[in-house]
Amino acid sequence: MDIAKSISEGLARKVLAAKVNGEVRDLLRPINEDATLHLLTWDDKEGKSTFWHSSAHLMAEALEVLYPGVKFGIGPAVDNGYYYDVDLGGRQISQEDFAAIEKKMAELAGKNSTYVRKDVSKADALKYFTGKGDEYKLELINDLQDGSITFYEQGNFVDLCRGPHLASTAPIKAIKLTNIAGAYWRGDSSNKQMTRIYGITFPKQKDLEEYMNMLEEAKKRDHRKIGKEMEIFIFDDDVGQGMPLWMPNGGIMIEELEKLAKTTEDKAGYSRVKTPHIAKESMYLKSGHLPYYADSMFPPMEIEGTKYYLKAMNCPHHHKIFDAVPRSYKDLPLRLAEYGMCYRYEQSGELFGLMRVRSLQMNDAHIYCTEEQFESEFKAVNEMYLKYFKIFGIDKYVMRFSTHEPSKLGKKYLDMPELWKKTEDMVRKVLIDSKIPYVEVADEAAFYGPKIDVQIWSVIGREFTLATNQVDFGQPSRFGLTFKNEKNEDEQPIIIHRAPLGTHERFIGFLLEHYAGKFPTWLSPQQVAILPISEKFIPYAKNVMDKLKNADIRTTIDERNEKIGKKIRDTEIKHVPHMLVIGEKEEASGQVSVRRQGEGDKGSMSADEFVTFIKEEIKNYR
Ligand SMILES: [Zn+2]
Ligand SMILES: [Zn+2]
Repeated sequence: MDIAKSISEGLARKVLAAKVNGEVRDLLRPINEDATLHLLTWDDKEGKSTFWHSSAHLMAEALEVLYPGVKFGIGPAVDNGYYYDVDLGGRQISQEDFAAIEKKMAELAGKNSTYVRKDVSKADALKYFTGKGDEYKLELINDLQDGSITFYEQGNFVDLCRGPHLASTAPIKAIKLTNIAGAYWRGDSSNKQMTRIYGITFPKQKDLEEYMNMLEEAKKRDHRKIGKEMEIFIFDDDVGQGMPLWMPNGGIMIEELEKLAKTTEDKAGYSRVKTPHIAKESMYLKSGHLPYYADSMFPPMEIEGTKYYLKAMNCPHHHKIFDAVPRSYKDLPLRLAEYGMCYRYEQSGELFGLMRVRSLQMNDAHIYCTEEQFESEFKAVNEMYLKYFKIFGIDKYVMRFSTHEPSKLGKKYLDMPELWKKTEDMVRKVLIDSKIPYVEVADEAAFYGPKIDVQIWSVIGREFTLATNQVDFGQPSRFGLTFKNEKNEDEQPIIIHRAPLGTHERFIGFLLEHYAGKFPTWLSPQQVAILPISEKFIPYAKNVMDKLKNADIRTTIDERNEKIGKKIRDTEIKHVPHMLVIGEKEEASGQVSVRRQGEGDKGSMSADEFVTFIKEEIKNYR
């Protein structure tokens, strides 16, 4: 806080926490060592989560006033706000009680109480919560080492907590409780069910209002709702949770996205491969996914005494293709691409529409290159992202660049200091040169190399994690992948894992919200609806449809005996981008009357002119 003040009063007002040598800490905690310092504000993920975790403590303080004797489980920050699991001792609480809790929180926040951090001995910690009769906190303390225990205190509330926290409650200006749910203590259904209360807070009232509006809009654009209305995908109980069935309209969207990916990747020098959906246990032991990743994989099936796993990632299969023939430096970079189907075990409680699924189709590719080629390969991958962002009108995006921590080489990270430094420097350079907005996060790289998580925002301002790019210097040695370098010596390639369009599931889920179902023509399941004014004009309408179908335009005719006004309204609801109205005048002149979804009448033209026009639109991904 003193450092922030020495920079400016404005910064001191905005700063929420500090990152000291990669660790997020309270602003009031002294810095006793030489340190790399990053001051965190509301614009930083860790700034927000410190704010929300502090808000969870504030809510707990309010609950203790309103519900004396309440006991507390855990109360972390989450993606959008925070929650606290509480045991109200038989008392019931509902959304109707939210206003009173919010009011009490606002009152307590206004007291500007400091969050005070205290080191406590295990004995003292146990004594405090025994006095309070909170068996949940006692259980947590019993699992902790003496000497590592801290309390945080604000106002009259004391919590067992590692922190970090805000300096005081003052910045918490706008408060909203959002939901209530049951939650088993420690996520175990044999334990007692607690009450989970969710909330969100902001430094400004205006931010809360914007957030509530965004939620309202997001509800209207809910991908599950639009996906069902437009017959894009369904889930079926006999197939299983988290495994979407793509209806014909969804099938078309998948085809179009794959066509886009294939065209783009062809131009960028990728080769396409195809691999099976299962593999033997030995391959995943080799890759290291087993045993470490076993929890996220479906359990094995046994055939002829051998265990097989559904593939959770395509990488090992691709490595085998790299390794199938001797490679020389002249073969590199080798870029192997596949829209690969993967299966991941997610707990049923974690599944959510298309966003969290158990079967997924990934826009995957692995680039095998030399150290010298790495920079230009990485740059090309980034350019591909930017190209896609432009096509889909994604204006806001951030690349979250996770790097290693040198003191943890050989422990948390592969012990290859030079390669870490070299690749991280190159990634950083590419990000800066291409003017891509990015944040650098120390000490969050993967075990085997730096990574970039790509965050995108939908048009209504909701954040999505689209994909991850990873640099990998671990897998080549596990799989013994080598190529002959110019001196005819064996050398290991570097691998880049990349998936710019993420998975079909998540990306189409995103697109449903982003476009609210009003897809651009190239992506629309149905591109043109021909609306004859009466039955008399159906033969001419069919004639027009043949022309469009010959040009590969997805077209239907509304042959119903309905008024044209109703036909137009019904087509608008289905979000078909183009309507061609056909009546006496059109037939006589050999033309069509064009209507654009949401824009209305666009005048008349010949069917051939319309074909030229719509083909141009599709070609340009509009
Ligand atoms: Zn806490
Ligand atoms: Zn991979």
